Amino acid sequence: MKGVEVTVERVTRSYGDFKALDDVSVQIHKGEFFSLLGPSGCGKTTLLRIIAGFDYPDTGNVAFDNRDILPLAPDKRQSNTVFQTYALFPHLTVYENIAFPLRLKHVEKKVIDQKVKEYVKLVQLEEHLYKKPSMLSGGQKQRVAIARALINEPRVLLLDEPLSALDAKLRQNLLVELDQIHDKVGITFIYVTHDQSEALSVSDRIAVMNKGKVLQIGTPYEIYEAPATRFVAQFIGETNIFPCKVLSCEPYESEYLMRVEVPALKGEITVTDYEPQQIGSLMDFTVRPEKVRISSNVPRSTTKELNTFKGIVEEPVYSGFQSKFYVKLENESSTQVKVFKQHTAFLEDGPDIEWKDTVYVSWTATDGYLVKDTER
Ligand code: ADP
Ligand code: MG
Repeated sequence: MKGVEVTVERVTRSYGDFKALDDVSVQIHKGEFFSLLGPSGCGKTTLLRIIAGFDYPDTGNVAFDNRDILPLAPDKRQSNTVFQTYALFPHLTVYENIAFPLRLKHVEKKVIDQKVKEYVKLVQLEEHLYKKPSMLSGGQKQRVAIARALINEPRVLLLDEPLSALDAKLRQNLLVELDQIHDKVGITFIYVTHDQSEALSVSDRIAVMNKGKVLQIGTPYEIYEAPATRFVAQFIGETNIFPCKVLSCEPYESEYLMRVEVPALKGEITVTDYEPQQIGSLMDFTVRPEKVRISSNVPRSTTKELNTFKGIVEEPVYSGFQSKFYVKLENESSTQVKVFKQHTAFLEDGPDIEWKDTVYVSWTATDGYLVKDTER
């Protein structure tokens, strides 16, 4: 295996009284595409710089394959970084930019030529070898930066929001390419982003960060379907989320079935969870908008665990492949429930539900989820 295992253990980094990183631990597997995801200012760059060796933790440890790397200078760590801005040499050609790290090491000319051509091919820039950076698009410049960072054959590539300067479509294309490059080189990638859709689409695993802390580490699937905290549920994708109180809890197949009181819904609902929750505990109930059904008639309940509320459509938003509905409940709560409906059949389910229509929103107990609100 070419990649390293990266272990970050109880790392803290403060600037004066401000804790940019607060007791952060992450274990990144060999060859993994691992993302650090969180809002601006949560400490992602600080953590990346510590791994790269440009910054130093106050306490804690960083190891590559169980070897302490904190005493090593950045160029001795077998890691390399791609930054948001390209940092290319404007007066050098694509070829010379990519060759630069090897020229520094006085590598033989013939070897340089062979390696530059190999890496130029990897990032699909064969036709642009003798152009200067000013003649390249943003996406092409970033590919030069990636090739230049890889040519020294690091064992971990650190990428700090490398796509954020590009426009949306280009970003998506380059992201797919980055995934393919990762597959080909097989080393560990640590990818920093504040964009949840980017992180979900390419990562093997993601660490969700906020305010200097890691809140959850998991696969994209785990993080989306089973968010650990209120913050994670709200930051990843869109969701309905309401504070609730657990009223009862009983075993249900391999899970637990709970009745919870939700003041925002002016009612009680049923929800399942893998873990039993204590009666009386205050939590948050969440259900993703695509798991809520909307209908003009009272939904036929096949189980007693269907939660149904009557409301009025406030804002239908048709967007081709799906419609979004913001439904204001009819009870005195006035709470809005978000519903996303996929249009999966041709014309069949067109925009039959309109503004001001009276509708029913419903979801099953298993589609809902309870999360802890760590900030409360
Ligand atoms: P992110 O990359 O997630 O946007 P950073 O790691 O860059 O966040 O920064 C985390 C926090 O630490 C921010 O609030 C930032 O203002 C602060 N910070 C970063 N570097 C310094 C510094 N050199 N001096 C003081 N504060 C800093
Ligand atoms: Mg940053």
